[in-house]
Amino acid sequence: MENGWIKFETDLDDLTLAEMEFDQYSMISFETEDDLIPGLCGLTNLGNTCFMNSALQCLSNIPELTRKILSFGNEINAPIIGAYSTLIKTMWSGEHVVTIPSSLLLNISENLPRFRRYRQQDAQEFMNYFLHLIHQELTSERTLITDLFYGRIQSSVKCLGGCHSIETNEEVISFLPLPVANDIDEYNILYLQSNDFFREEPLNGDYYCSKCLDLKTARQKADLVLPLPSVLIIQLKRFTYDLDSSAKIDTYIDFPLRDLDLGQYIIQNNDEKTNVSTLYDLVAVSNHTGSLVAGHYITYARNDRNKKWYSFNDETIREIIDEHDIVTKNAYILVYIQRTTL
Ligand SMILES: [Zn+2]
Repeated sequence: MENGWIKFETDLDDLTLAEMEFDQYSMISFETEDDLIPGLCGLTNLGNTCFMNSALQCLSNIPELTRKILSFGNEINAPIIGAYSTLIKTMWSGEHVVTIPSSLLLNISENLPRFRRYRQQDAQEFMNYFLHLIHQELTSERTLITDLFYGRIQSSVKCLGGCHSIETNEEVISFLPLPVANDIDEYNILYLQSNDFFREEPLNGDYYCSKCLDLKTARQKADLVLPLPSVLIIQLKRFTYDLDSSAKIDTYIDFPLRDLDLGQYIIQNNDEKTNVSTLYDLVAVSNHTGSLVAGHYITYARNDRNKKWYSFNDETIREIIDEHDIVTKNAYILVYIQRTTL
């Protein structure tokens, strides 16, 4: 890791093995329709850039983001948004089965030399940083990125040492990292309360209460603050790093394709609560196979035009016939969108 970014060389033989793991799935049949469908456009791998292709296919299948990007004119004076807008227009033109994202990669590389070719990267870190670059180019405090992706979490600490005062703190999040337990034999469901934010935790004597003026026991918890983000990105933290070793956790997590309910995580006593949908539906999954140093990314995503699920593996796109096959132990990034109608 360098400045929090993963950076390593990839062994091509291992990479081929990781790619083959995806090909073992029998669930996906080849697309046989002759008609081109907008959004079903593969992305050429420019040398270990499957992390980028996978992240871009996730973002491309967020309907509201793509609608806004498609509405941008060609005159926009922002290199990354310009290159991304050109790419999205090509992908959603219904005229191409594959395109080369080289112009976007070039612009991103200029901003961030770490994203060079021939280096495997982390799709989630790329996605997060890419959205941040778009936000920066829009040069205002509130942008389509903050509107769609940003949520707020309020953490509160209640002193149990006598005064019962509550200290609150609010922070902005652009994605939700969830730890993944290393128990491959267990049946695990997506459990948002496993996050550093939502879990209610006792602070045993290590909380300094500013009213009691002493170290006290306290209880810490966190809640989402309304409005909820339109797009919820969940990172299943499968990669662990410490000083002398790093590992990937292959635990299977069962996550819902629809009706993920954030209702129980919203801060209580909020009048707005009745007016918003707390339900989220899955639109994309970035999957990772292989090891930490030699892996491969592909995306499963739902096309907004025909509501069918597809597998996007660089240039290759296949239809996913059985929705049950979307949930695998390879799931790394989950992209949910808020239900717009109650
Ligand atoms: Zn106190």
